[in-house]
Parts: sequence; C-alpha cells; structure tokens
Amino acid sequence: MLSRHVTNDISAYCHGELSSEESKQFAEHLISCVRCRTKFEEVKLGIKLAEQLPQLSAPDYLWRNLEPLLAKQTEAASASDSVSWSWQLKAAAAVVLLLLSGLAAFLVYNARKPVRGPVIASGASFWRVTRLDGTPRIGSEQIANNGQLGVGEWLETDGSSRAQIAVGSIGNVDIDENTRVRLLQTEPTEHRLELARGKMSARIWAPPRLFFVDTPSAVAADLGCAYTLEVDDHGGSLLRVTSGWVALELADRESIVPAGAACETQPGIGPGTPYYEDAPPVFREALRKIDFKHDASALTALLDQARPRDTLTLWHLLARVNGEDRIRVYEKLAAFVPPPPGVTREGVLQLDQQMLDTWKNQLESSWTSGSVKGVPKPIKDAYWKVKSGLSRRLKEMAPK
Ligand SMILES: [Zn+2]
Repeated sequence: MLSRHVTNDISAYCHGELSSEESKQFAEHLISCVRCRTKFEEVKLGIKLAEQLPQLSAPDYLWRNLEPLLAKQTEAASASDSVSWSWQLKAAAAVVLLLLSGLAAFLVYNARKPVRGPVIASGASFWRVTRLDGTPRIGSEQIANNGQLGVGEWLETDGSSRAQIAVGSIGNVDIDENTRVRLLQTEPTEHRLELARGKMSARIWAPPRLFFVDTPSAVAADLGCAYTLEVDDHGGSLLRVTSGWVALELADRESIVPAGAACETQPGIGPGTPYYEDAPPVFREALRKIDFKHDASALTALLDQARPRDTLTLWHLLARVNGEDRIRVYEKLAAFVPPPPGVTREGVLQLDQQMLDTWKNQLESSWTSGSVKGVPKPIKDAYWKVKSGLSRRLKEMAPK
C-alpha cells in the first residue's frame, strides 16, 4: 500500500492516464484506505452522472429564484454585504448539485439490471485472452495461444479447454471447461462480464465496484477480492469468496459475502442469504428452504444450529422474514452481539436502514478474519456521503 493518499490521482485513474503499475498501486491503496475510497466513489458518481444524464432544461422556478439573487449580488458588491448574498448563491448552486446527484443516484440504481446489452466504448476496447488448455473459441474462431476478446464478443470453452482473461490492468479471470462468457463493457470506471453458464475464478486488485459479472439471476459486484462464480443450466449460480468481499445484487435485494462465505442465487428470486461454508449441513439446508422454497418452518432448525459467526446469515435474514419470525431472528442475533447504542429493537424490527447498517458495521469485525476491514461503499452509500458533504459545506458557507 502507498503511504501517501491518492486523491490527486483519481481523475487520471478514471481517465486511464496512469501506467498499469501506477493503476495497480492506486487500486491497492483504495482497497485499504476509507478516505481515498470515499473520494473515489464521489468522483465515480460524478462521472456516471455526466455519462448518463440526459440534457434537461433547468426548471423555471430555479431561474426565478436565481435571477433576483444575481441582481442583488451585483447591487451588493458596492453595498459591502456581498458575503451573505454570495452565500445564498452558493447555496442555490449546491441545491442544483444536490438535485443532479439525486437524479444520478436514481439512474445508477436503475441501471443495475442483471443482464443487458454490451456497451461499446469510444476507442478500441478488448481484453487479452491466453489459452490454458485445449482450443477455446472467441466467436467462431479458435485461438492458438493468445487472442483478443472485444466488447460484445463471446469466449467459449468446451469439455477440454480453459482460458485466462486479463481484465485491463485490474486482475485476471480464469475460465473453466464448458463455460460461456461475454465482454459487455471495459472502461476505466467499469468493467463488466456476462457469465451465461459454466465457472470462472476472478482475482481482482481493483477499487470496490469496478468489476461486475452479470449472471442470469444476479449481478456480482467486486469489492476487492478473489472468488469463484458458477452458473448452472437453469440460470442459478453459486458464489464462493476466497478473499475480500463480493456483493450479489438483483433489484433492491443485496447480499454481502465475505471471504469464507458462499451465496446461491436463483432466477426470479435473486441472491439468497450468505452463509459460511463451514456452517453445519442442517443449518445450510434450512437456509435453502427459507430462501428458495419460502418454507419459514425451517427457521427453527436454523436458529438451533446458528453459531456466533453465523451473525452474517442472521443479519441478512432480518429483512427476509416477517412478523414473529423476524422477532426470533432478532433475539438470536442480539444474544450473540447486542445491538450498539442508537440501535433499538423497534427500529430493527421496522427495518430502519440506518440502524441495520450501524449494527452491521459492528458485526463486520467478526465476519472478516483477513486484511480487508469494513464494507466498501456501494454507490448508494456514496450518494448519501455526497449529500451529507453538501449539507456540511452549506453550513460552512453560512454567515456566522
Ligand atoms: Zn488514502
């Protein structure tokens, strides 16, 4: 990890202006530095905004409010109270920014769909592919030793072939036998692969949420990690994380999976609840019934078998069971790790997101045994940071 912060390099990184060695050092620093990571998420959000916002005219009322302020600003320049008017102008500008970032967050959020068409970036975009075994194919062409996978192209292996993909400068993906993957997008701010079937292993040394894999039943978002992802013929998938964190998402359902844990996904349902792979078989079977067969009667067996580190599963289950069952999950979880100050039983049972997150932050230390501490910020978290940062700046600008 670099000893200095890398906030000055964020723009260069996002525009692909750093060398591959510099990019790697930048990424490694971001994985372990909350301060730089937060800044990076803000900048990335801004870039998303610029890319995705349609051209819109500002609403009339904004101009009606701004114009008198501008006029007063001119008058005030000679009347020596320019400070307060300049504050109001800045405040108005901040409100406009806030509206824009809200719209951006909305657009980004709605863009999180499991499968979509390829995005053609400006300029040449491809990943290098190395043959490991047999004769992998890109489109209809067999590759000898090396090949190039362009945006929109499929890489396919049969029962006796394997390949390795270099994901820009941020990592490698090994493609197992009988696997079909497509490159959807490769840009400094987002790399996206589609896994239609088969198995892949990813090792990514990128900042969180830069590398995504679309499967038929969820999107895997890399949070700085190594993992395997397997898709069966029915579109279900199994994620197993070996280091760092991965988020599995479908619409507003999200599972955060740390090293040592696994998570299944099913078409039409999305991600199931994450569990540690060393959990008792009875616990895991009960969880499958709750997640995918809507069989809440399995909850008794699950709670009986739960161990202290299974708070990972229990925390996720809070929002996935109802009524009396949620109370039982709450009580089991609270018996292992009592909720921290500010987190109330009533709030948790009503699924107050802030309270759930506060409790999760406390639980995380028992979920991670590796070097990566703290959950990296998803884009929606970054949005709230931008928002609270703006209100803080507004207060700083206000006349004393
Ligand atoms: Zn830093």
